[in-house]
Amino acid sequence: MAQETMSFQAEVKQLLHLMIHSLYSNKEIFLRELISNASDAADKLRFEAIENSALYENDPELRIRISFDKAARTVTIDDNGIGMSRDEAISHLGTIARSGTKEFFSKLSGDQQKDAALIGQFGVGFYSGFIVADKITVETRRAGLPANQGVRWTSAGEGDFEIEDIERAQRGTTITLHLRADEDELLSSYRLKSIIQKYSDHVALPILMKKEEWDAEKSEMVEKDEWDAEKSEMVEKDEDETVNQASALWTRPKNDITDEQYKQFYQHISHDHDEPLAWTHNRVEGRSEYTQLLYVPKHAPFDLWNREHRGGLKLYVKRVFIMDDAEQLLPAYLRFVKGVVDSADLPLNVSREILQESRDVKAIREGVTKRVLSMLEEIATSSAEATEDADKQKYQTFWNEFGQVLKEGIGEDFSNRERIAKLVRFASTHNDSDAQNVSLAEYISRMKPEQTKIYYVTADNWQAAKNSPHLEVFRKKGVEVLLMTDRVDEWMLSFLNEFDGKPLASVARGDLDLGALNDEEKQQQEKIGEDMKPLVEKMKEALEGKAKDVRLTFRLTDSPSCLVADEGDMSGYLQRMLKAAGQKAPQAEPILEVNPDHPLVKALKADDANFSDWCHLLFDQAMLAEGGVLEDPASFVKRTNALLLAR
Ligand code: ADP
Ligand code: MG
Repeated sequence: MAQETMSFQAEVKQLLHLMIHSLYSNKEIFLRELISNASDAADKLRFEAIENSALYENDPELRIRISFDKAARTVTIDDNGIGMSRDEAISHLGTIARSGTKEFFSKLSGDQQKDAALIGQFGVGFYSGFIVADKITVETRRAGLPANQGVRWTSAGEGDFEIEDIERAQRGTTITLHLRADEDELLSSYRLKSIIQKYSDHVALPILMKKEEWDAEKSEMVEKDEWDAEKSEMVEKDEDETVNQASALWTRPKNDITDEQYKQFYQHISHDHDEPLAWTHNRVEGRSEYTQLLYVPKHAPFDLWNREHRGGLKLYVKRVFIMDDAEQLLPAYLRFVKGVVDSADLPLNVSREILQESRDVKAIREGVTKRVLSMLEEIATSSAEATEDADKQKYQTFWNEFGQVLKEGIGEDFSNRERIAKLVRFASTHNDSDAQNVSLAEYISRMKPEQTKIYYVTADNWQAAKNSPHLEVFRKKGVEVLLMTDRVDEWMLSFLNEFDGKPLASVARGDLDLGALNDEEKQQQEKIGEDMKPLVEKMKEALEGKAKDVRLTFRLTDSPSCLVADEGDMSGYLQRMLKAAGQKAPQAEPILEVNPDHPLVKALKADDANFSDWCHLLFDQAMLAEGGVLEDPASFVKRTNALLLAR
């Protein structure tokens, strides 16, 4: 029989090392992981058997069996699921195939506590067996293959593993953990049962253990109150018992499910060690019948921004697992949601292609979306009304982790745009911090009586937004401005023209119209405009090819100049963003606005000799101030130096 020694993929070695050291305090999760794999294997078998019932090999009762051997110091997890072929064992138990693995490893900090949380998010899986075992033996045969194509995989969890062909009559997988020296507490039926009930109660498959009975004869007779588990003797009976609830959690009535069970189920499906932030569970009846159990996590997974990010919805049809990551059930902007949808209408042999066209799926998707939005609305309302600090923070926690993703919904989901807009939060000049916690409704409640628009500024980061010269006049007049600094904001704003009847207006775009706010000053401003007209015309000529127009502004107080995009043109920020993303952006020249009160602008009038240099300097400065890049930085430096020396 071919026996081979093979090396683990480098990432596996790294993961093993980290896991053994950082997850030690939470070591009992190994059983949850191995049971979860056994349960996945049963799901896969059931799914493949829809088309090929011979795979059941006359043994259709799927189950998991847990046993232990005190003398050999082993714990065994056995399933009659799909099993693995030789090639599958080599690749599944020797590499990490998951997308985003590279990024994951690049995020590890070396700080044990932080890394332990990350590993939790990553999903520790099969390799977690090595937290308690110094050797693992896997014997397996894939359903449908002949008995002589069984394989044995053995490893001490260091650099390599051994693989060899064996005879194996039974399909499925038997995993034997050879316990490390100080793990004897696991050699107890009581201990194993309690771990199973804690983490795996909801596994839809029966988990069997041998029934044990107290043996009065063999045990030392001791006083009742001195009863000692060590000295007592339990004997195995030749009878199985099911030690978990073995019913799919989502099919049980809500009232029968404790919060604790909901949380464990979340951990089971999400591989997240943390508790969920919120969940919702209900059955939908009507044209389309399905049950949904949906969770919002507390933390964004490390690969949320990865294009291949696996979504979190599992699709079942009449309790038969169909697929992970059923992306058709959930719009992309809700990709952080985890959970289960169990449909009563879809055919069992549904494929991803069928899902795309199915009307039932469309109905489910709409239902799931509404449900998630209601859940978020509830969190937002209850956070706003909460008195306890922890509850007040709840919506903010959600927003900080997933707000950027939710904003995509404004552009993607026309039918729910209003609802999503209500859920969106921004940083604002009102509270002068970078916390994104101001809703559009809250902004409107603080608007000046004469104010008609919701004002915002976009920039690369909060500092730049906050210090934008465009804000000066708004500060002076006490008008609040939303500070938008997320990459998606510009894109989102192109779909969000108004909220509650109030138009959204960029402070850096078009003519400034603070409505009646300006009335008294208008006359005075018009006069200044007349006086400076020749100067402005001359500047326009000097900046031909660079600025579309030059005009006076009264929105600046401290800065001499700023750039604005013409009505209908793309903002400079968005042009830069598109360029950075490698896309073509239409080149629109900006408008230069100058502050007639500023000493530099006044000096300009009096310095004919350097007039052109001054104009270019004002333009370049304004470009730098909004985070832009100069087309010709060397000339900027030269000009600046020349003007400095000329003084
Ligand atoms: P995950 O379950 O997230 O895929 P694991 O590390 O837990 O990651 O398992 C790796 C792979 O090994 C599984 O995807 C599966 O293909 C295979 N595997 C593990 N345990 C079993 C089992 N009991 N039966 C069949 N395949 C298994
Ligand atoms: Mg797994």
